[in-house]
Amino acid sequence: MKRWSIAVLLCAAAGARGDDLERARRINQEAIGIDSHIDTIQWVMYQDADLSKRHTVYHVDFPRLREGGMLAPYFALYVPTYYQGSEAVRRVLQLRDAMQRVVDKNSDQIELAYNASDIVRIHKSGKISALLTIESGHAIDDDMGILRMFYRLGVRSMTLSHFRNNHWADSSTDEPSHNGLTEFGKEVVREMNRLGMIVDISHVSDKTFYDALAVTTKPVIASHSSCRALSEFPRNMTDDMLRALARNGGVVGINFGGGFLSQKDADAYKKRILDSGALQPTGTGPALDGFAKAEFLKGYLKMQPTAATLEDAVAHIDHVVKVAGIDHVGIGSDFDGIGSVPAGLEDISRMPYLTAALLKRGYSEADVKKILGGNHLRVLRAVTGK
Ligand SMILES: [Zn+2]
Repeated sequence: MKRWSIAVLLCAAAGARGDDLERARRINQEAIGIDSHIDTIQWVMYQDADLSKRHTVYHVDFPRLREGGMLAPYFALYVPTYYQGSEAVRRVLQLRDAMQRVVDKNSDQIELAYNASDIVRIHKSGKISALLTIESGHAIDDDMGILRMFYRLGVRSMTLSHFRNNHWADSSTDEPSHNGLTEFGKEVVREMNRLGMIVDISHVSDKTFYDALAVTTKPVIASHSSCRALSEFPRNMTDDMLRALARNGGVVGINFGGGFLSQKDADAYKKRILDSGALQPTGTGPALDGFAKAEFLKGYLKMQPTAATLEDAVAHIDHVVKVAGIDHVGIGSDFDGIGSVPAGLEDISRMPYLTAALLKRGYSEADVKKILGGNHLRVLRAVTGK
C-alpha cells in the first residue's frame, strides 16, 4: 500500500472516533434522558451539596447531568429499613425537604415533574426535571393514607421493598416471610395503580415480582437492576422475569454498580448487602439520623475497586434487548448510591460514551433514544395518564 493511502486511512480512523463521540453527544442532547434511580439527594441532606456546581466527588450534579444529556432523573428518597414505623415517615419528609430546598434555590435550572408531559415541557425549556421516588415501601408505615399523602407531595414511584422484607413484601436479599406479597401488599399495588404511581420492583424477591405483575393493571419498572444471566446476583433479573416484564409493558433500568454488572464483584457485593441489611441500630430521631449518616459516608464517600467496565453495561443492555426487546430497557444507574463504578462510566457526565458504544454495536439513533429515556417516558405516561 502506498504511503499516502496509509496516512489517509489513519486520519479517517482517528476522525471516525472523534465523529462517533460527537454524534453520541448530539444524540444525548436531543434525547430526553431519564435515569430511573439516583441517590444524590442524600449528599444534599448530609453534606449540603450544592448541585448547581460541578463536583469532583459524588456522581451527579447539574453540570454533569447536562453534559451527560440525562436531564430527567428520578431522585430517590431513600429510607434504610432500620427506620421503622413513624421514623420512616419522618425520614421521607426530611429528604423531601432537602429536594425542595434544591428546587427553591435553583428554580431557574430545575423543576419538579409529575408526569411525562411535564418532562417534555421542562426539557424544551432547557431545565432539569426532578422526578420523585421513594425507596422503599416500608416508609408508608403500613398506612394507605400515608401512601396517598406521599403522592400529594409529588412522589410518582416507589420500590415495594429494600434489603429486608417489610410487613407486606419479601425482599430479594432476605429470607422469605410472606411468600411474596401479602393481601395488604397487593392492595398497595392496586392503590398505586389508582393514584398513578409507578410500581418499582427493584429489590423485591422473585415471588414478590410475579405477585406484583399478577395484580398490577399498569406497566411496572425495575428502576435499578441488571441481568442475572450475566451477573448471578439476587437483585438482578432472570431472563424469565425480563420476558414477563416485557409482557407487562415495563422497563428495567440497568444498574451501573460493579456487583450488578460483573460476576467477579457479585459475591463481594452480596455480602455487603447482607451485612448492611443486618444492621439494627436502636434509637430514634437525631441518634438514628447520625447512625444513618455515618453508614452512608462509610459506604459511599470512597469508591471500591471493581472489575466492571462500560462494556459490561453495554452487554447488560444488549442482553435485555435480546431477551425482552428494545422497548423494555433503560438506564437506572444508581449513581450516588453504589459503592463502585465501572471504568469508563464513572459519573453521569460519561453517558455519551455509552451512546457511542451502543452506536458501535449497530444500534440506531432511535433505539438509543429509547434506551436513554424514551422507554421510561412511555411507562410514566401510561401510569400517570399524561
Ligand atoms: Zn436500591
